[in-house]
Amino acid sequence: MNHQLSTPWPVVLSIAGFDPSSGAGIAADLKTFAAHGCYGVAAVTALTIQNTQCVSALHPTEPAVLKDTIAALLADGRVKAIKVGMLASRANAEVVNEILESNPALPSVLDTVFRSSSGKDLADPDCQEYVREKLIKRAYVITPNLFEASAMTGLRVENQEAMKMAARKLVEMGARAVVVTGGHLDKAIDVICDDTGLEAFIGDRVKPENTHGTGCTFSSAIAANLALGRQLRDAVVLAKAYVTEAIRKAYSVGPGRVPLNHFYRMIQPSRPADHSADLTEPAG
Ligand code: PLP
Repeated sequence: MNHQLSTPWPVVLSIAGFDPSSGAGIAADLKTFAAHGCYGVAAVTALTIQNTQCVSALHPTEPAVLKDTIAALLADGRVKAIKVGMLASRANAEVVNEILESNPALPSVLDTVFRSSSGKDLADPDCQEYVREKLIKRAYVITPNLFEASAMTGLRVENQEAMKMAARKLVEMGARAVVVTGGHLDKAIDVICDDTGLEAFIGDRVKPENTHGTGCTFSSAIAANLALGRQLRDAVVLAKAYVTEAIRKAYSVGPGRVPLNHFYRMIQPSRPADHSADLTEPAG
């Protein structure tokens, strides 16, 4: 049986946590892949309990289950790039290390997720240490934010100069390529560094404030662009432009933080008429 289409979408694998409010983690990754014309598959590292207001708990997946899920997905033979997000536990980080080691030809984007913007730790200290010591050397590119760059380098990363220093230090520590994301600064600055040099991209800071899932979306957009065959620098520039527009077009879905509008490129459907008032009419 062969159902192959003439131009199949590249398959991209997300290894990340599940956010039931769909703003971050696997749900954000799959939406980002689809918005780029990629088919997303996913292995869950942890279930989180969260809504737009906070992350209240997380439940890491059994490492053996994570390992078997990834092995099953890779056995289909179509994955063109891997995005790694929240890992939660050291044991899960070790599983991912093994997978990246045995698939060196697959471009991998490691979003070094340590803590949510609402302040919940999403990786235990052992996991953070393993990511810093081991996993950053395995990935094709890593995408720490200011907090994660500080935690991994020991530097105070609060402005563009410090971002550059941290990016260089992470390359010295063994990362092949680094994008330090500075979306929380006055200007949305990203610094990209590899062994060939360093470059800063400066974008406008766009409303709304208080967004949720920006880091997940940025790293997934890079992975999708790599799966589509683009070079790293182009993948980063395109991912930044995508995230900027997805923030600009974001809309609120609850009383707390605002998820990105991953499908802003699609024509917005016209809303059906609001019949809620009819429901309160007395029957008969
Ligand atoms: N939940 C999951 C599953 C995540 O992967 C992340 C970030 O990577 C978050 C929550 C936190 O997202 P943010 O810090 O953008 O609110």
